[in-house]
Amino acid sequence: MPQLRQDLVTGRWVTIATERARRPSSFSRAPAVAVSPAATCPFCVGHEDMTPPEVLADRAPGTLPNAPGWEIRVVPNLYPAFGPPDREPVQARVGPYETMDGVGVHEVLISSPSHTDDFAQLPVEHIARIVRASIARYTAHAANPAIEYLLLINNHGKEAGASLEHPHSQLFGIPFVPPVVQEELEGSRRYRAAHRACVFCDMIAWEEQSGERVILTTDHFIAFAPFAARTPFESWIVPRRHAARFEMMSGPEQEDFARALHELIARLVAGLNDPPYNFYIHTAPVHSSPETDYHWHLELLPKLTIAAGFELGTGVMINVVTPESSAEFLRGVDLSAPGLTAATPTPH
Ligand SMILES: [Zn+2]
Ligand SMILES: [Zn+2]
Ligand SMILES: [Zn+2]
Repeated sequence: MPQLRQDLVTGRWVTIATERARRPSSFSRAPAVAVSPAATCPFCVGHEDMTPPEVLADRAPGTLPNAPGWEIRVVPNLYPAFGPPDREPVQARVGPYETMDGVGVHEVLISSPSHTDDFAQLPVEHIARIVRASIARYTAHAANPAIEYLLLINNHGKEAGASLEHPHSQLFGIPFVPPVVQEELEGSRRYRAAHRACVFCDMIAWEEQSGERVILTTDHFIAFAPFAARTPFESWIVPRRHAARFEMMSGPEQEDFARALHELIARLVAGLNDPPYNFYIHTAPVHSSPETDYHWHLELLPKLTIAAGFELGTGVMINVVTPESSAEFLRGVDLSAPGLTAATPTPH
């Protein structure tokens, strides 16, 4: 019988309905077809003039801005969803409707000079540099009074919304706290009032103890399939240390986070033949007090099934694979097997 599961933080319901299901391995995709040519890619080396001027670059000493020599490059989005960030948003009413200026920030963080290497292929050391660049941009925007929330996202694969193939992440600074985060903040508060504990800390403790949904652990992080996973292979990376803010990670934590992210994605890529996915980082709102009771984390959702009428009409997702079998499958992926070279870090 399908089982309704409730997310411990938000109270959101999910239906785990495996009757319609396939084995986890049947989500593996056919080999990918060829891709947009690197010759016209605005994120490739030598095409720096195809983007707005860079706002940050991790580049070799002595090289010029907006010229080759970079390892990571951050540029404003040419087609921003929000912007500009230099004033308070004006709110207005139109009849019964309310509007607000879409002020904010929309930046692109180009992962590396490589047109093809993504988190599964890039060396952990390089991913740590991406994490550092992301934190630098977070911090740069956090002082802006017009921005209430900063969200770092990554779309991988066309089906997941990546319009340009060259691996990149995006940073959105928006003039309100998004409902999903609001829901998690309220859920965390509610849980603390009832249990005198952090909901994420309690979740981690249970997951480590039971082990059935754990995908991997590192010194500072745990990756697991959440109890009420919305999609096959939904995976969260959560710091073991209670901390409200992604951008306050210590140096060793940043390195370790890069390691966890690399391994999680390498397992997905090797096990399911490079599926499309989205991930994003939930951290405390910019202007909330340092004591905000929140526990930052990364949520990754592979895009292997399509939300349809029922999901849209109810907000309840139907997941056809139990998170327990998703986790077991990802744990079992052999990252050293021949033919899975995509999963091992290659020197840059
Ligand atoms: Zn490219
Ligand atoms: Zn916590
Ligand atoms: Zn979250």
